[in-house]
Amino acid sequence: MRAWVVDEPGPIAGSPLRFTELPDPEPGAGEVRVRVRTCGVCRTDLHVTEGDLPKRRSRLVPGHEVVGVVDRRGPGAGRFELGDRVGIAWLRSTCGRCRACRRGSENLCADPAFTGWTHDGGYAELAVVPEAYAYRVPEHLDDEAAAPLLCAGIIGYRALLRSGFAPGDRLGVWGFGGSAHLTVQLALAMGAELYVVTRGEVGREHARRLGATWVGAPGERPPRRLDAAISFAPVGEVVPDALACLAPGGVLALAGIHVSAIPSLDYARHLFDEREIRSVTANTRADGETFLLLAERLAVTSTTVPYRFDAADRALLDLADGRFAGAAVLHVDGSARPIAAGATPAEPDP
Ligand SMILES: [Zn+2]
Ligand SMILES: [Zn+2]
Repeated sequence: MRAWVVDEPGPIAGSPLRFTELPDPEPGAGEVRVRVRTCGVCRTDLHVTEGDLPKRRSRLVPGHEVVGVVDRRGPGAGRFELGDRVGIAWLRSTCGRCRACRRGSENLCADPAFTGWTHDGGYAELAVVPEAYAYRVPEHLDDEAAAPLLCAGIIGYRALLRSGFAPGDRLGVWGFGGSAHLTVQLALAMGAELYVVTRGEVGREHARRLGATWVGAPGERPPRRLDAAISFAPVGEVVPDALACLAPGGVLALAGIHVSAIPSLDYARHLFDEREIRSVTANTRADGETFLLLAERLAVTSTTVPYRFDAADRALLDLADGRFAGAAVLHVDGSARPIAAGATPAEPDP
């Protein structure tokens, strides 16, 4: 099969990705093999490729927003039929025995595996996954539109849960890209009043289009106190700003897997009145299943930019340079629409 691999992580400008031929993977016990149709390009792929996340194996195939069809089943695998459309996400397996797993927090498992980091992912024509960690994909979305839901969507949903958001709340969002634009659709469908702070005009315009009540630039303050907030920006400087905007008891959830240094906080201005900061770490399968059901029921849509399979390196470069809005998606099965000329700059976003 054809696949992209990372031998040695390094700056994306130095071309750490290599397009090559690999042996077809075979599904083991309880696993299915998926013929990949599309794979979303996530900021975490950039962290893996550039070495911001420590190298876990050589000759790694990145990619963890995989949509495809089951083409082979390993011994004992019976959850899916051959030809079923499934999704593969970041969380590839958990131990099922540690304290976190036993308490229903498998996202914090002591011995987890991850697609496109500890195991090969979807920048390849074939990918293998334990069937218990694969997802059914919402029917209303085509292969391109569904891909970003598998990480950007699921993680954003977990961030929304972690923020303590309740229907009708005033929700603040810092940073507006791939993950945010999916998350706010859920919140708005649940009656949220939405306040968005983000750098680029492309993101601000996108937020307005989706129904934000108020949109501002960094440093600007939403006109009302917020019941809950999420930062999708990988930038620690927004943390004090967001905390200062919270109503008593409000929570700020940090959705990024990487956030730069957070400035010092002032107890009275940023934390008193039982305001809280919560991080977001991966997701449980229950988060994923619930999000995909909600996405279908609420007809969540995604803004995507298609790339040909042989242009994965360019897609990552464009992501690093913020050259497009929404989410880049590789058409691994060769069905890409032409790439839109003159792609527009986007917000940094996990
Ligand atoms: Zn565990
Ligand atoms: Zn991701």
